[in-house]
Amino acid sequence: MAKIVCVLYPDPVNGFPPRYARDSIPVLTGYPNGQTLPTPADIDFTPGELLGSVSGELGLRAFLEARGHTLVVTSDKDGPDSVLDRELQDADVLISQPFWPAYLSAERIAKAPQLKLALTAGIGSDHVDIDAAIAAGITVAEETYSNSISVAEHAVMQILALVRNFLPAHRWAEQGGWNIADSVSRAYDLEGMDVGVIAAGRIGQAVLRRLAPFAVKLHYTDKHRLSADVEAELGLTFHPDAQSLARAVDVVSIHAPLHPETRNLFDEELIGSMRRGSYIINTARAQIVDRDAIVRALESGQLAGYAGDVWYPQPPAPDHPWRTMPNNAMTPHVSGSTLSAQARYAAGTREILEDWLDGKPIRDEYLIVDGGRLAGTGAASYTATVNATPAA
Ligand code: NAD
Repeated sequence: MAKIVCVLYPDPVNGFPPRYARDSIPVLTGYPNGQTLPTPADIDFTPGELLGSVSGELGLRAFLEARGHTLVVTSDKDGPDSVLDRELQDADVLISQPFWPAYLSAERIAKAPQLKLALTAGIGSDHVDIDAAIAAGITVAEETYSNSISVAEHAVMQILALVRNFLPAHRWAEQGGWNIADSVSRAYDLEGMDVGVIAAGRIGQAVLRRLAPFAVKLHYTDKHRLSADVEAELGLTFHPDAQSLARAVDVVSIHAPLHPETRNLFDEELIGSMRRGSYIINTARAQIVDRDAIVRALESGQLAGYAGDVWYPQPPAPDHPWRTMPNNAMTPHVSGSTLSAQARYAAGTREILEDWLDGKPIRDEYLIVDGGRLAGTGAASYTATVNATPAA
């Protein structure tokens, strides 16, 4: 029998379950690239419920306990005496969401000799030390596509929020003012601007598609060039690297995974090479940008705005400078955890567990690491620094 440790974010401060705003969520039939939605044998939750917090348990308890497995759910993940550290010692499976990541470091892996599967409920497995997982033979998997569109919608929202100066205008309205001049002094139309994405994978492409009707000039860079058809359809300008793209745009939206090639990519120099008054939106991972260089660029006016929902570490300290830096439109890490997304990644988590517990292969597109090497989506989108033999 397996022991599954599941690290989830805390329940709402006003109690669980919350009073839901709507009675249902739309039923989707598939993902945009034809990939099928998660296919678990069954689910024990109603789509649209809060599943990602501790009491939601990703809807897994009845299924796992009926099969005799042990499920431990906690939000206590940091510090030397955390419940996570205690429970990980004899765990077979660790489940974690990027919004409240259980950082699976090499040290933690060394203290978890039975650990065989690190499952990301969502997308983005950089909270796992990929090299250490490869060396320890741990399979790393995530629910590819489950929240890609959720994130793309959030990125488009934050681009518009920054360029149109939405948050300050909203604050004037809320506070009883009618300060038109104050509100519009930093407001522009997106129309006609050069907008670029760093990485045109599932999220990056969805952002490009959603922005095309805004009559902007679209740019992208990626390790894998898109087909000439897609480039022509969306009117895309391809750049061989981030340096070339950064110089050519007014707005950059970052959608690459965090791995050795992208860590600290937007440093002082790259930000300094951008047009004065550029905007950066980062819903990918915080460590793709230099934290303090972003703050300095906002203070100097080199950047007109920075938005996103990813921080490091998570949760960030109360005095993290991104909470108070000028012209930011930050949210906590929420874009990929809408109630709509939760239904998909909870079902995907169940699908992966059903397969893994039955000894069946996990869908290739869900794999990041398997058999001691990068595999599936991991082989296409990540790099590792040791034993990195990409799967064929
Ligand atoms: P994906 O695998 O479909 O796309 C990733 C793309 O990045 C691929 O096209 C790959 O070729 C490209 N890439 C990798 N390294 C690159 C490099 N050095 N330069 C240029 N391109 C590079 O993944 P996705 O679903 O689009 O997700 C992308 C990332 O977004 C995830 O890895 C995760 O970090 C982040 N994410 C965030 C949230 C959130 O809630 N904020 C949710 C989901 C995913």
